Amino acid sequence: MEKLSNPRKTIEVIQKYQFDFQKKFGQNFLIDSHVLDKIISAAKITKDDFVLEIGPGIGTLTQYLAEAARWVTAVEIDRNLIPILQETLGEYSNVSILNQDILKTDIGALAQEYNQGRPIKVVANLPYYITTPILMELLENRLPVDSITVMVQKEVAQRMQAGPGTKDYGALSLAVQYYAKPSLSANVPPNCFMPRPAVGSAVIHLEIYREPPVKVEDEKLLFSLIRASFNQRRKTLVNSLNNASNLEFQKEEIAEALESMGISGQVRGEALTLEQFGALADVLSGLRKRR
Ligand code: SAM
Repeated sequence: MEKLSNPRKTIEVIQKYQFDFQKKFGQNFLIDSHVLDKIISAAKITKDDFVLEIGPGIGTLTQYLAEAARWVTAVEIDRNLIPILQETLGEYSNVSILNQDILKTDIGALAQEYNQGRPIKVVANLPYYITTPILMELLENRLPVDSITVMVQKEVAQRMQAGPGTKDYGALSLAVQYYAKPSLSANVPPNCFMPRPAVGSAVIHLEIYREPPVKVEDEKLLFSLIRASFNQRRKTLVNSLNNASNLEFQKEEIAEALESMGISGQVRGEALTLEQFGALADVLSGLRKRR
């Protein structure tokens, strides 16, 4: 069967099934073989790998994944796509399709079933409306995941990679960089998709750390501090943290904690590195314990 990366084939399949693109599901299908090759090489897939694909659409990327990996499980929410996938992936004997919402999928159980609990690779051209919840689910829950290679909105890729003091630096940068090493694999223009999205896209590869690069006593406190700092970007860190309803620290305590780290009380959260947020979390968690 001719590959779906050929736009003619994609149009033929769409017409045959009279498929209606669902905007609410973020459906923009890839139609560019160079981009698909880049995703496969960025993901470093081998014949040993079990790959979880999120949102296979009509199976364009799945065809490439099936050729590179040992096994692919593709989770698709739109039931109208299931009969199409059965046809377009009919030639492959190493693919399973699940008709469900990825946010309600037990990914640990899939890793157990198909990969004996060993770390899996996640690859996807993500539905952009739920990029952050999907990534946070994969990162925060300590699932057995080796790497995540995903197409996302270009601005989101920039935010994931951004460092302190830049306009893109924020809670997403720090959350991603706590769990993984991000690298940009390709910028992808709208004409590589059908229909064309209104925004530019990029492929980003996240290599998951076995151990976080920064060790903290209280991870929950670290992320509460990060979120509070960027909720009020224009305020000083002391004021942002003091205003946060889920944090109980006084202005003086926060200023003292910063001073003990050699940081001015006037600093804004966007200037702090992940290591500095980690150190601040440890000083404040020590303070909590002494209360
Ligand atoms: N992988 C295909 C490709 O590259 O051509 C399609 C990518 S399209 C950007 C995103 C896909 O994710 C769509 O097929 C959409 O129906 C599916 N999707 C959206 N929300 C989902 C969810 N919560 N769980 C699983 N799949 C979802």
